[in-house]
Amino acid sequence: MLKIKNLSKTYKTGDTALSDVTLEINKGQLVGLIGPSGAGKSTLIRCINRLVEPTSGEVWLGDVDLAQLGRSELRHQRRRIGMIFQEYALVERLTVMENVLSGRLGYVPFWRSWLRRFEAEDIRRAYELLDRVGLLQHADKRADALSGGQRQRVGIARALMQTPDLLLVDEPTASLDPKTSRQIMRLLTEICAERGLPAIVNIHDVPLAQSFMERLVGLRAGTVVFDGPPTDLSEDA
Ligand code: ADP
Ligand code: ADP
Repeated sequence: MLKIKNLSKTYKTGDTALSDVTLEINKGQLVGLIGPSGAGKSTLIRCINRLVEPTSGEVWLGDVDLAQLGRSELRHQRRRIGMIFQEYALVERLTVMENVLSGRLGYVPFWRSWLRRFEAEDIRRAYELLDRVGLLQHADKRADALSGGQRQRVGIARALMQTPDLLLVDEPTASLDPKTSRQIMRLLTEICAERGLPAIVNIHDVPLAQSFMERLVGLRAGTVVFDGPPTDLSEDA
């Protein structure tokens, strides 16, 4: 499903964040990216959808090499990749429902009127997703009235609204308390399993990664130093 080949990134500052990373992720597979701060986890996630431009290498999503695409084709292909962020990136003044619907747009709606073009089918799906993440009764609340855990549920529903082929998840629980973190990880893993949706989750909390992910990829100084089930991870890794 996703094939990363010899991916490297050296920033303009001269920092090499990734060197020669090769990784394959199959349909329905949930991969936790772990490693110390500065290991290259964020850079790897951002190189996949080219929020960061790779210096060299290939990023195959199905039969498309994302690394080779021109701007307009990239914009189109990015619709296949759902993003979930640490700080949720919701539009505070829009309602929960409107935030979820905005997942269909692929950009941040500045005006409510931009959301009026949705078909009944989109609205039905948005309600279904809100129900799945347990927020149906909060659909009409403003995003800024929600708790952190609820916001991340909106973030998940919004990413699913674009029916992605891949989820990129950047530190989804870094702003949440331990109990809420586990709830969010459980929801995320269940949803991916239900849909056969592959996901890469940047998760620096190793114990949390070990309890929820079926496969861990360890990065250190821009290279893959571990790739396997959490049970194979040694104490010092
Ligand atoms: P992690 O997510 O594992 O903490 P990052 O991908 O953020 O690692 O960073 C990897 C390396 O790349 C670090 O040395 C970091 O300082 C560097 N880096 C990250 N982003 C940039 C940037 N925008 N410009 C220059 N260097 C960067
Ligand atoms: P993370 O928590 O994901 O490791 P950081 O807090 O280190 O990220 O960095 C925050 C932002 O600054 C990111 O967008 C990252 O790409 C950028 N960044 C990180 N290191 C550098 C650097 N050395 N020079 C410029 N930008 C950097």
